[in-house]
Amino acid sequence: MTDIALPESLAQAHERLTNALKMAERPLDSAMLLAVSKTKPASMIRQAWQHGQREFGENYLQEALEKQAELADLESIVWHFIGPLQSNKTRAVAENFAWMHSVDRLKIAKRLSEQRPEHLPPLNICLQVNISREASKSGVMPDEVMALAKEVAALPRLNLRGLMAIPAPSDSLAEQRAPLAALRQLLTDLQVALPDAPLDTLSMGMSDDLEAAVLEGATLVRLGTAIFGARTTQ
Ligand SMILES: *Cc1c(COP(=O)(O)O)cnc(C)c1O
Repeated sequence: MTDIALPESLAQAHERLTNALKMAERPLDSAMLLAVSKTKPASMIRQAWQHGQREFGENYLQEALEKQAELADLESIVWHFIGPLQSNKTRAVAENFAWMHSVDRLKIAKRLSEQRPEHLPPLNICLQVNISREASKSGVMPDEVMALAKEVAALPRLNLRGLMAIPAPSDSLAEQRAPLAALRQLLTDLQVALPDAPLDTLSMGMSDDLEAAVLEGATLVRLGTAIFGARTTQ
C-alpha cells in the first residue's frame, strides 16, 4: 500500500467501485461503499466525512464507542457494527449503531431487538454466513441460514436486510467468485421464503475481492485497507 493521502485513497476506492459496477453492467448506484475504520483514529474518520463519506464500519465495540463520542458532531454519519459480538455486549450496539452485520445466532438477535431504543428506527441486520465452511470461523452455516432468518425476521425492532460473509481468501477471481455466488443464491432463497422482509443487502467484498463481489451482486462493499491504509494492529 503506497502511503497516499486519505482524500486520494477514498476517491480511488469510489473509482474502483464504479469501475467494478461498470464491468458488471450494473447501475452505478447499486452498491454502497462502507469505510471500515477499525484501529484508525477518529481524526481519519472526520477527514473521510469531510470528503463526503457517511457510512463507517467498526469491529471493536469499546474502540467504536470512544470514536463515536469524539465524532458526535458529525451530521448524518451512519455507524455499522461488523465485528464479532458477545451476547452481554448487545445493548451498546442496539443503542449506538444503525446496522449490525454479524448476527449469527438467535440469542444475539433477540437481545438486539429487545434493547433497541424506541426513539430509534429498527436496527438493520445482516446475518453473517460462514460461506466457506471454515472451522473456527464465525457465522451461521449455510444450511442453517433459512431457519435463523425466519426467526430474526419476526423480531419487532429489527429489519432483516440481508447477508454478510468473509470468504476464505484467494488470489484467483474464479475462486473468489464461487462463495460470493453461493451467498447471493442464499439471499435469493430468503427473498422467496420471506417476501415481506426488506431483504436487499449483500454485504460482501473487501479490499482484496471487491471486483469479484460486485460481479456477484454485492450491494455493500466493506473497504478498510484500500481507504485508510494498512493496519498496524489487529
Ligand atoms: C477489517 C474488515 C474489513 C475490511 O478489510 P480490508 O481488507 O482492510 O478492506 C471488512 N469486513 C470486515 C468484517 C472486517 O473485519
